[in-house]
Amino acid sequence: MDISVVIPTYNEEANVDKLYQRLSEVMQQLSVSYELVFVNDGSRDRTIALIKDLAGRDERVKYIDFSRNFGHQIAVTAGLDRCGGQAIVIIDADLQDPPELIIEMYQKMKEGYEVVYAKRKNRRGESWLKLWTAGAFYRILSNITSISIPVDTGDFRIIDRKVVDILKQMPEKSKFLRGQISWVGFNQTFLEYERQERHGGETGYTYRKMLNFALDGITGFSDLPLKIVTYFGFLVSFVAFLVMIYALVSRFVWEDYEPGWTSLMISVLFIGGIQMIAIGIIGEYLSRMNQNIRNRPLYIVKDSNIEAL
Ligand code: UDP
Ligand code: MG
Repeated sequence: MDISVVIPTYNEEANVDKLYQRLSEVMQQLSVSYELVFVNDGSRDRTIALIKDLAGRDERVKYIDFSRNFGHQIAVTAGLDRCGGQAIVIIDADLQDPPELIIEMYQKMKEGYEVVYAKRKNRRGESWLKLWTAGAFYRILSNITSISIPVDTGDFRIIDRKVVDILKQMPEKSKFLRGQISWVGFNQTFLEYERQERHGGETGYTYRKMLNFALDGITGFSDLPLKIVTYFGFLVSFVAFLVMIYALVSRFVWEDYEPGWTSLMISVLFIGGIQMIAIGIIGEYLSRMNQNIRNRPLYIVKDSNIEAL
């Protein structure tokens, strides 16, 4: 099979049919053999019914139905685990990523690239807070990680079978696929596109999910936050040492000392705050290690028309 299209879907009943149509047209235009792998990530609407309906009419439609909502990155991972194509496209179900771009992406890949990702020139119809937080996150991440993760890029991309086979050997539980894909290497390039508004329905990415996703990206690809804690610890200790000398000198040499409630409160609160942040950062790494040690399955499949590999 030439192309597998992996589509994570969560409450996308308004978009499934339209997406199927547009993807099918694109694939016909490319005249390739293909499959559309819908991963239903515990939708609470009619998404899975619609997908099964399509599967009944078109045998190229495959589905993986999760037992509950496991999150976007895990849904994509499940699709990658079970798809069979030589090239794999990852695309959102809400038509924010225009399926027609796949034609160009596929051609670019044929020029000798293992990964062609789509870079957003602009994003329409999203709140300024989302744009701002996402923009800040991508920039911070690209500054503090050891590998170069492309800025303003989602998971919309086409990747070679070789890369997917390597991803399958990366068993980490906190998935940050775009980082993992960069990390793999090979020849990677990008195409620019205009990110569209959602066709229907609403975003499944709450700010909470976004924050978690950002922390997965940072903790998965950088130790800088832990290092900052250490440096800060040294700095604060150094200052504390100076204050200690001052306190001792003023008590015993100058014998001129204040009751000092203000400075005491300030330093206690300050150091307390720093410690809390430090422990929090360590906790973020620790909880992710813990997830990996528990070694539970990444997702649970309730139903699928693809045989497990
Ligand atoms: N999605 C998912 N599980 C989730 C949230 C989202 O599979 O828990 C899917 C969703 O159906 C869509 C894609 O991931 O195909 C991107 O999500 P969304 O459009 O909600 O995010 P946004 O574009 O607003 O960042
Ligand atoms: Mg979207």
